[in-house]
Amino acid sequence: MDFDDTPDEAAYRADVRARLERAAGDLLHVGAGDRVDAGTHEAELRRTQRVLAEAGLVGVTWPREYGGQGGTLVQQAIVQQELARAGVPTLINHIGIGMCGPTVIAHGSDEQRARYLVRLLRADDVWCQLFSEPASGSDLAALRTTAVRDGGDWVVNGQKVWTTLAHVADFGILLTRTDPDTPKHAGLTMFVVDMHAPGVTVRPLRQMVGSAGFNEVFFDDVRIPDAERLGEPGEGWRVALTTLMNERVAIGGAGGDLGLPVETLVRHARERLPRLDPDRQVLARQAVGRAVVASLATRYTGYRRFTVLSQGGVPGPEASAGKLAGTAAAKLVADAGVRLLGDDAVYAAAADGDDSWQRTNGYLPGLAIAGGTDQVLRNILGERVLGLPPEPRSDKAAPFSGRPAGGAR
Ligand SMILES: Cc1cc2nc3c(=O)[nH]c(=O)nc-3n(C[C@H](O)[C@H](O)[C@H](O)COP(=O)(O)OP(=O)(O)OC[C@H]3O[C@@H](n4cnc5c(N)ncnc54)[C@H](O)[C@@H]3O)c2cc1C
Repeated sequence: MDFDDTPDEAAYRADVRARLERAAGDLLHVGAGDRVDAGTHEAELRRTQRVLAEAGLVGVTWPREYGGQGGTLVQQAIVQQELARAGVPTLINHIGIGMCGPTVIAHGSDEQRARYLVRLLRADDVWCQLFSEPASGSDLAALRTTAVRDGGDWVVNGQKVWTTLAHVADFGILLTRTDPDTPKHAGLTMFVVDMHAPGVTVRPLRQMVGSAGFNEVFFDDVRIPDAERLGEPGEGWRVALTTLMNERVAIGGAGGDLGLPVETLVRHARERLPRLDPDRQVLARQAVGRAVVASLATRYTGYRRFTVLSQGGVPGPEASAGKLAGTAAAKLVADAGVRLLGDDAVYAAAADGDDSWQRTNGYLPGLAIAGGTDQVLRNILGERVLGLPPEPRSDKAAPFSGRPAGGAR
């Protein structure tokens, strides 16, 4: 297999690199793969995305009619690699670009597409995904936030939780229960909600890495016009599946490293392994070896999946394998990095300008939960890829209103 760029890809890469160099003065630069706190750097992150959008580097695969570049998946991967190489942080609207936007493209009205999509790509509006609730995460279809029709509006009441970026978001896609008397998957409806509407309260949740990336969101009699519905009433599950499929592809689809690049680990290993005392050196050497093997295996398996997609294949349940293996590899890389760097993983800013190892190490356990937990992804792989017998789902056909409060499965 040949991983080198074709002549066309090499020309595209050179063009992207030149565009990035021209825009460099207006971009926020950090370590490759680093995640910058959106709350404290909101203005710089919005500006960075807008400048990149104006340079034609956001929404590479989106259709041109919605502000995208109409490009290929390979071009998208090249842009991602070049952004990482330039030290540009994860885009502030990564959830909008990867999940909310594709859902609006697939299920929105022409008016919604015209109103939202270009602004989303420019980060004029930041978007969030309002699915999980205190008693429904893995069992998402058990959600209890209600939307009740009232004239030309729907009135929403309930609570969401773990909503990434809600504290800076302007809009969200919101999954609600509109018919409690049908089975749980059948009574759901999706909306676009204005996060600044009266009755929306956002409370940031602080994580162990110190920043607050996600939030609790409360809805008290929030009115949403019917024109902001995505898909038909009762079709919310089908709409949500579009979002979730895009989420797993966005997180683990194309074989990119999910944490810090393994090449950075290898660079540190070359410099630091010889300086460690013998006992620590053995353990660190083994950790680096495991991390490199897992990362490269994940990356090349990702490239294979990516080749299928770029030849017109449709993302399927195997995207779950990319997220599962990618998260495990990223954890091994971060763990090896912390072993090598020791205290410098926390204070390395002074030593070599790279204090992101400890932050990444603290962030990665969350990645094994977000977008489908490791256990749930294994269920999907077992059932839909390996063809094993499905989990028993006793409540699937019963009306949702008949189930006990508290959400037994
Ligand atoms: C960093 C981060 C960002 C997030 N961002 C968002 C966001 O923007 N929007 C949003 O809506 N949500 C978001 N989430 C929420 C995420 O989708 C849920 O946390 C996830 O789906 C798990 O749900 P839960 O937390 O309710 O755990 P539960 O579903 O209660 O699971 C608890 C434990 O039980 C296990 N388990 C559950 N069901 C099964 C099963 N059938 N078989 C085997 N084991 C099972 C799980 O694997 C887990 O270990 C985010 C989460 C994280 C960590």
